[in-house]
Amino acid sequence: MYYVSTRDKLGKTTVAGAIAYGLAPDGGLYTPEAIPSLAGNALETLKEMTYQQRAVYIMNMYLDSYSASELAGFCAKAYGGGKFDDPAVAPVRTLDGKTHVLELWHGPTCAFKDMALQMLPHLLTAALKKEGETKTACILVATSGDTGKGALEGFRDVPGTKILVFYPRDGVSEVQELQMTTQEGDNVGVCAVVGNFDDAQTGVKTIFSDPELRRELAEQGSFLSSANSINWGRVLPQVVYYVSAYCDLLKSGALRRGEKLNVCVPTGNFGNILAAYYAKQMGVPIGRLICASNRNNVLTDFIETGLYDKNRAFYNTTSPSMDILISSNLERLLHAYTYGDAGQVKGYMEKLARTGSYQIEESIKKRMDRDFAAGCCDDARARAAIGEMWREKRYLIDPHTAVAVDVLDQYRAKTGDEAPALVVSTASPFKFCPVVMEGLGVKMPEQGLKGIDQLSQFTGIAPPAPLASLAGKKVRFTEVTEKANMVDKVREMLR
Ligand SMILES: *Cc1c(COP(=O)(O)O)cnc(C)c1O
Repeated sequence: MYYVSTRDKLGKTTVAGAIAYGLAPDGGLYTPEAIPSLAGNALETLKEMTYQQRAVYIMNMYLDSYSASELAGFCAKAYGGGKFDDPAVAPVRTLDGKTHVLELWHGPTCAFKDMALQMLPHLLTAALKKEGETKTACILVATSGDTGKGALEGFRDVPGTKILVFYPRDGVSEVQELQMTTQEGDNVGVCAVVGNFDDAQTGVKTIFSDPELRRELAEQGSFLSSANSINWGRVLPQVVYYVSAYCDLLKSGALRRGEKLNVCVPTGNFGNILAAYYAKQMGVPIGRLICASNRNNVLTDFIETGLYDKNRAFYNTTSPSMDILISSNLERLLHAYTYGDAGQVKGYMEKLARTGSYQIEESIKKRMDRDFAAGCCDDARARAAIGEMWREKRYLIDPHTAVAVDVLDQYRAKTGDEAPALVVSTASPFKFCPVVMEGLGVKMPEQGLKGIDQLSQFTGIAPPAPLASLAGKKVRFTEVTEKANMVDKVREMLR
């Protein structure tokens, strides 16, 4: 199977090439030429398997440069060995007869990024070998919180790689900062940047296009790489949990064979919900894909009107991992809806870069309407959803999941579509204690690590071990840099 660039039909490569180099040379995203489909009885077969076995089965359909036994080894390392605190890896909880929650935060960093970032290092290092690449891959990450920790934990002590994470000094929560500054591993580095997420991100982009640095690195046997969510190696592992969730619901009898399941996803960069779209294309009976946004609702407007317009105010919300105005992975959906017309997608993306907006054609909008619905909610509604869920179902959710819960309610009220639905839960509530406590009605909640104890005492729920153990961890990284000096940090670290 070949992978094509969304912006140039001729930019074809193998899957190893797509994963090894991430972005196509023309700036497009590598995407499978065709989406494989699950044969008639495949879900019945998958139903009886463990999560790891399901992951091997699904990923094998896309990864023809890798053998099944190779993938089995990767899955055992990524999802086995006690890395996830639930044997189901991505368990489904049923709230009522028609509402289920897919919990994607049982991994080592307590957010859904683990589902892909535990797998990516294995796919990437193998891809580099297959491509004949012998240099060390230096992964550079700018993070607003969850990605940085997820990538550090995924790449720690992986041979042939080094990883360096920059986070905005003023832009992450206390718990998120501690998660990163206490990171263990011999090939890791963490550094705060004076400024906000944009400063860190711009700094990293500048470093990537620094020819002098590239030359120096090549001389010493390394090259820069990224763990960004546009890499196909991050999207694919996410397809697995949608198939797996459907199988679990079949197995428990919550769904009948072929019964439609709506899926509601708290969305930022559009990677998670795109994986659900691919699962649907493969033949999983998914009904409506409901895209949930916070106050940064550029996707809600796009899905409702067909106009993508990032020329608007940016808000810092209580669901920071969704605070995004350019959702990179949307490009892959446009690729699908234009039947791979690279020229058309390229046109949209150039217009976006030039003017900050583009309007899709009516025929494409019609296709999107058949698959997607969208909604958004502000911080106050998200807090209310946290409180209501706790009072009515004794179920604790984080502020990102709360956005999806509220948007699903809105969708049901507006459309009358009461089909069974899966809410995707993307972070442990213990990562965002103060906001969650406010949702539960507590004014002036404790901050930082004290917040973890307070939330645990209030609810009687034990915090996940990786967060509970932060208190006893030694801080290893205390460096702060100005944006202009980030490149020196890279030199220092990679020397
Ligand atoms: C990254 C993230 C999201 C957004 O996911 P996308 O794939 O970027 O749409 C939502 N919630 C949490 C907790 C996240 O870390």
